Amino acid sequence: MSGTLYVVATPIGNLEDMSYRAVRILEEVAQIAAEDTRHSRKLLNHYGITTALISYHEHNEKSRSPQLIARLQAGESLALISDAGTPCIADPGYRLVSECRQAGLEVVTVPGASALIAALSISGLPTDAFSFIGFLPAKTHGRCQLLEQVKNESQTIACYEAPHRLLASLTDIATTCGADRQIAVARELTKRHEELFSGSVSEAQEHFAAGTVKGEIVLLLSPAPQRKPDGTVSEELQRLREETDLSWKEIVKQVAKQFGLPGSDVYKKSLELR
Ligand code: SAM
Repeated sequence: MSGTLYVVATPIGNLEDMSYRAVRILEEVAQIAAEDTRHSRKLLNHYGITTALISYHEHNEKSRSPQLIARLQAGESLALISDAGTPCIADPGYRLVSECRQAGLEVVTVPGASALIAALSISGLPTDAFSFIGFLPAKTHGRCQLLEQVKNESQTIACYEAPHRLLASLTDIATTCGADRQIAVARELTKRHEELFSGSVSEAQEHFAAGTVKGEIVLLLSPAPQRKPDGTVSEELQRLREETDLSWKEIVKQVAKQFGLPGSDVYKKSLELR
């Protein structure tokens, strides 16, 4: 019998946000693969968990995966944790999970905290649909390029951001998406200095320029105001081509959504213009 890989969420700040099941599984498995073993040892000590740890991070995941898979195939059950929150969400683990699945091994989730979902749930922004775009690129050029791609999305856009880049990112968001766009900045969730700022981008700039921004941050952008296009499908395709940096594929997708048409119809129209 092969073992099971448990993908276990750990708290994002408040140690009480650990499930009973997570504690039990982490006690029962043969070994826990962790991003930073020293960091995780401290966390596990808090719950009295003494299971052995092995490092699994972005720099060794390629070489480590076969080793972990061999142990699972030999019948040992293992757990995967990250420094905080849910593994594989902007954290290492995806490769291991994918390889386990390919090898026919059982992968089981032990869900819990994730900064992304925690932030969304208290943001007051629409949650029926959202796009998570990971960390915003560190440099203005890359950031603006990505923001251009997502700024017209009709769903909430969520991303992770480092505190020292927040103001620069807000500047780029104001430039690409407009200073009036609604935004939520979730900072230090579940911790002593938890804050949820909600307002326009320009209000956020003013608020966060007042002091040094510290702590961990999730940024959420409200969906783009969906204006019903004035012109025809062809005119809207042409307009987006001229006024944005979007690819034809993205333009077709957006126009299809705006007009409520099948993508294939809009694609055919776009061919006439290319
Ligand atoms: N896998 C994790 C999860 O599910 O929450 C996220 C890992 S990612 C490497 C870490 C980033 O998540 C931080 O840089 C920050 O943007 C966000 N984050 C983590 N904890 C947070 C918290 N308590 N409050 C706000 N954002 C947090």
